[in-house]
Amino acid sequence: MPEGDTIFRAARTLNEALAGRTVTHFESVFSRISRANDHFTVQGRTIERVDARGKHLLMWFSGDLVLRTHMRMHGVWHLYRRGTRWRRPHSDMRLVIGTSEYEAVAFNVPVAELIRAGDLERSPAVRHLGPDILAEAFDAAEAAQRIAMTPEIDIAEALLNQQAVAGIGNIFKCEALYASGLDPFTNVADLSREDIARVVEKARRLMRASVAGRRMVFSVYGRGGRPCRRCGTTIARHKHGDEARVTYWCPRCQARRVAAKARTV
Ligand SMILES: [Zn+2]
Repeated sequence: MPEGDTIFRAARTLNEALAGRTVTHFESVFSRISRANDHFTVQGRTIERVDARGKHLLMWFSGDLVLRTHMRMHGVWHLYRRGTRWRRPHSDMRLVIGTSEYEAVAFNVPVAELIRAGDLERSPAVRHLGPDILAEAFDAAEAAQRIAMTPEIDIAEALLNQQAVAGIGNIFKCEALYASGLDPFTNVADLSREDIARVVEKARRLMRASVAGRRMVFSVYGRGGRPCRRCGTTIARHKHGDEARVTYWCPRCQARRVAAKARTV
């Protein structure tokens, strides 16, 4: 699943090519979008900007109209110079936004909505999102506060809850927990607010480095069965959580600590 950094980079690329340009061609296979387009008419509008909020990609058109897409597992946006052959079959096409120079094509994107800008903030998909991990003015304290509101789940699962903090996916969940030395399966209730804020900050730092184009060398993600780069212990992997995503961790560097709270009682 693409994480916030991937969506952020896709939005940046689309923004550079499309912002300020007029839509000369608009196509969609979604009947809901087509119906909305009958009403709003995307063609002829100016693309004002493209940005990301958590894992949602938002394309803003003149006249207060927004196209929201979510990639889920397999969706992807491609950008082509006009007349270039697509690298995906036409049957995978879900949306096309064309300008005189470019074609932005969404392949296999499962979620798309054309909505008035004023209604976007009230839409269920966006309204409950936590602070955006990649936003300039990110509030780690608020994110930690929101995570602390689900004390009964473990920290690995809590980091993926987009209503607590928007944009973190499985890869950076694993890497941030390793960088913080936290056992992924510790309940949120057993962590201090500082511990939570620290792991969130680690995720942000790693994801911003990825956005900046730094090549990522993963410490634990995808390294199950191989030695920890720090201590040599075999990296463990475990499927857990509702979406059965694999968590990777070093059982030694991320050993469970006796909860500070329990000790002081
Ligand atoms: Zn280790």
